[in-house]
Amino acid sequence: MSHADIILLPGDGIGPEVLAQSVRVLEKAAARGGHTLGFQERLMGGCSIDRQGVALSDEVLADCRAADAVLMGAVGGPKWDDPRAKARPEQGMLALRKGLEVFANLRPVKVRAALQDVSPIKPDRIAGVDFLVVRELTGGLYFGQPKERGKTADGHERAVDTLEYSDYEIRRVVEFAFRLAACRHRKVTSVDKANVLESSRLWRQVTVEVGAQHPEIALDHLLVDTASMRIIQSPRDFDVIVTDNMFGDILTDEASVLAGSMGMLPSASLGDGGPGLYEPIHGSAPDITGKGIANPVAAILSGAMLFRYSLGWEREAEAIERAVDYALDAGNRTADLQPAGKPLTTKEMTDCVLGGLE
Ligand code: NAD
Repeated sequence: MSHADIILLPGDGIGPEVLAQSVRVLEKAAARGGHTLGFQERLMGGCSIDRQGVALSDEVLADCRAADAVLMGAVGGPKWDDPRAKARPEQGMLALRKGLEVFANLRPVKVRAALQDVSPIKPDRIAGVDFLVVRELTGGLYFGQPKERGKTADGHERAVDTLEYSDYEIRRVVEFAFRLAACRHRKVTSVDKANVLESSRLWRQVTVEVGAQHPEIALDHLLVDTASMRIIQSPRDFDVIVTDNMFGDILTDEASVLAGSMGMLPSASLGDGGPGLYEPIHGSAPDITGKGIANPVAAILSGAMLFRYSLGWEREAEAIERAVDYALDAGNRTADLQPAGKPLTTKEMTDCVLGGLE
């Protein structure tokens, strides 16, 4: 019997809709394992800008740091899309990742047997796909300074983003990926753009050094353009992919097509100890917000990852994952999974998962 305190950051759009359903599943799975959970809800993203003027307040960050884990929905939406606005929802997400020092973002890409026919890719190409993308999360293009807007000498508008990595930032995430590969099929594919980018050449150099210390694990390198093709062409070839912040962001959205929907893919963001951050990879989906039709599975599976990586409740994590398969195997589908019959609502889909929790 153990207890865990979790901060919930529902955020905006469908974030609160899917997070509420994830909590129902976590509570039942924890109780089945004889554990108790304490949840506290906090503001982050657009809703926080509306109420307190910033996307993430110092108090909320402090609460997150003091918790056992943080479970997030999604942030953003058209209401906060003004590019000239000082406060933007994404700032909260970036500040949270940095503040929790969660530099390794784990994004498992698994094609569940029941959904092979949902993807536009041929079923024989994607049957059995099960790989893990480890995306660097607290460096690279999304954090590099300077970031600025201005004018060129001849009066044109100009914008600058900076892509910067230091060797220690690369080493720690690549080592993380090797540790994970040791418990999987012992293969790491590092994705970079070393033919063009200096930062990628450093990435490759450090990765080769880390690889030399793990001779039992196969290491190969792909340029990001080739990797984006291979993920569609031969996705079963991958075991663990490790890559930088922006490449990982883009490649995992692409990979969600294999899994059938953005609404299927969870993520965990981890550092060297401290609370982990768990969230679906999808955004706030303004096009379906408030309709009660969002797929809750990515949020539910993010909760399973929270049990596994932050609390060590492996048995309960697996029970949740089995319950998701049970619900899908029985033919239950939300609208994004293109059901033959009437699609289930967010809550109905969760009811089916709860029904499969033994
Ligand atoms: P999105 O992921 O919100 O939506 C892309 C498409 O996938 C939409 O058609 C949406 O309806 C669908 N979709 C996403 N999640 C779904 C789910 N659970 N069930 C069913 N369908 C789902 O991406 P977007 O439209 O590019 O971005 C919308 C907003 O979300 C923007 O403000 C963006 O900045 C923000 N965003 C936030 C995060 C985050 O919070 N981590 C990530 C990406 C985008």
